[in-house]
Order: sequence, then C-alpha cells, then structure tokens
Amino acid sequence: MAEKRDYYEILGVSKNATIDEIKKAYRELALKYHPDRNPGNKEAEEKFKEVTEAYEVLSDPEKRKTYDQFGHAGFGPQGFDWRQDFGRVRMDFSDLFGDFFSDFFSDIFGREERQHPNRGEDVEMRISIPLRDAVKGTERTINVSVYEHCPVCNGTGSRSKKSDVECLQCHGTGKVMYQQGFITISQVCPRCHGQGTVIPDPCMNCRGTGRVRVMHRINVKIPAGIEHGTSLRLKGMGNAGIRGGSRGDLYVTVFVEQDDFFTRKGYDLYCEVPITVTTAVLGGEIEIPTLSGKVKAKVSPGTQDGTILRLKNLGVPRGSIRGHLFVVLRVVMPRALSREERRLWEQLKSIEDERNYPEVTKYKQKLSGS
Ligand SMILES: [Zn+2]
Ligand SMILES: [Zn+2]
Repeated sequence: MAEKRDYYEILGVSKNATIDEIKKAYRELALKYHPDRNPGNKEAEEKFKEVTEAYEVLSDPEKRKTYDQFGHAGFGPQGFDWRQDFGRVRMDFSDLFGDFFSDFFSDIFGREERQHPNRGEDVEMRISIPLRDAVKGTERTINVSVYEHCPVCNGTGSRSKKSDVECLQCHGTGKVMYQQGFITISQVCPRCHGQGTVIPDPCMNCRGTGRVRVMHRINVKIPAGIEHGTSLRLKGMGNAGIRGGSRGDLYVTVFVEQDDFFTRKGYDLYCEVPITVTTAVLGGEIEIPTLSGKVKAKVSPGTQDGTILRLKNLGVPRGSIRGHLFVVLRVVMPRALSREERRLWEQLKSIEDERNYPEVTKYKQKLSGS
C-alpha cells in the first residue's frame, strides 16, 4: 500500500484547527469530489474516500488525539477500518449536506454486497478472554443469533407456490430515480429492497422475508498468541442468504483482558518478582511462575533493584517462534529486624567498604565537588 498522507494535509487545515474549520474544509472537498458530481471518475472517488477518512478521524476528539500522538500507526496494522468506522460520518454527512446527495456510502463502500444482493449479512460478536488464554490459545463456545431459512416456506418467503410479481414502484429495476436540481439521484427501491420483484402472498412465519432468527452455539478456536482486538472470520457462519443467496460470515473480535501478573509488549511478556535483600547480595535461586509452568532462575550476587532477567522463549508464540519473558527483580528490604538480625546488620555496617557501592562513592564526589 502507498504511504498514507497526513490527515491535516488532506483537509488542508492546520494541526490546531477547530472542529468548525475541519467541518468547513471537509464540506468543500466532499462537494468537489463527490461521486454524484464526478460520475465514473475513479480518481475523484479515491479523493473522496481520502477526505472522508481524514474527516472521520479528525472530527472525533478521541480519534484525533490518537492520531496526533501515534499518526496512522494509532489505528493498528490494518489502519483505519471503513467497515467499523464509517457509520458516524454517514450521520454527519446528512447533517452537513441534507439529502442533497444519494446514499454515497452504499454506493462506494457497499459495492461488494451489491454485486451479491442476496448474500446474507455478516454478523459481528465480541468476546473477551484472559491474557493467559490468549498466549496459550483456547476455545470458546459462543451463542450467536443469526438468520436461518424459514422452515415453513423453505426460505422462499411465499405462502403458496405463486411466483413473484414485478414490483410496481420500480417496475422491476430495483432502483428508483428522482430529480433534485440538476442531479438525478438513484436509490434502492424501498418497496422491494432492490429485488425488483415482490411476493404476492407472503409467508406468515417470516413475513415474506424467507428468514427467521435462530440461536446457534458455535465453537470458536482462538489461536495462541492472538492480539487484543483481532477479528476472527468464520466463513459462512453469518446470516443465511435471501432466497438462495450465499451466507454471510461471522466475525468474532477478541479482546484480551489485562493480567495482574504478566504484561504483554508485542510478543514479550513482563513480570515483577520480589527478592529479599540477602538473595540480592549473596545471590541465589528463585522460582518464577511462567505460563508453561514454574521455572527456576539464578540471581547473581550483587543484583541491583530493577535488574531484568530474560527467560528465552517463554513469551508469546508467534508462528513457530516465541517472544521472551522478562523478569524485573525488585529488591525488598526487611521491614522489621529481630534482635539477632539487628546486631548482624550493625556489625556489617561497621565493616562496610564504600568502594563496593560505586553509585554512593560517585554521589559523594559530586557533593564535595559542588
Ligand atoms: Zn417463511
Ligand atoms: Zn421495487
């Protein structure tokens, strides 16, 4: 994909433009490039998409903040998602222009669906899983309500065997046209929903739609290492098609919950493990609960607070390889001392050699120098 242009540059506004300035800029550009005004002009259509995407992000305070901070990368590896994001602009658009233009979103972005007018709709679901399951991979059974063929009419939508009749409103074209100023606007026929035909005696069970809602239990396999926000596509598990059309897909978006011990960064995991001051000074062995069972790790003598141990290949799987587990060691001081301990610490202090604490020596030099 080509390098994406800066959203502010696309709209020709400054980085600190007000929402009104952004609206105004978008209105002008959208009018200029709108497909209704540039029929068959591919370049104008691309421009139109580009300005609309820029407007979508910059007119939403949350998204604008994300964009200002992270740029295009703020919207993930797939970038800006039209499927999810255009709904709000569509509302804004009629707000900005009234009914001046035809339903451009279905014209531009619904093209794929229009080629298969009877294809069942995609269905979306969201689930959340613990981080530990996301790392190891898991399975979930979900309940999804989808459309299935009506059993009474076998999906035909018709009570009798009478064949369909031509829709009177669109004369079988599936479209209605009307004139507004100099522009002819074409819309999907509201009576037959673009079919061109209507059923003379609709089935009572499904009201002539040929479909009824059914609850499905579906087993979803979640691959190991899945990232927060990933959408899994289950082909053909969405709504049944209308009158012989193919089925839609089911998209399951997986949210990964935060864990109270492990934090994920890319394919690496991080955790904090407390160790006593004596282990830090003398060295020793500690136990770490990784996601594939407990492992032992060596702490070397003289370990400082914040030291990071790297446990290779105990992070998140990525294909055939794995990230690492980073263990941040936190040296904990005793909060109380027994009489015996106190005596020994005092003895230690009396024979302490400051040269073994280079940071302290350096600090003292700095103090005397200033
Ligand atoms: Zn029916
Ligand atoms: Zn019609």
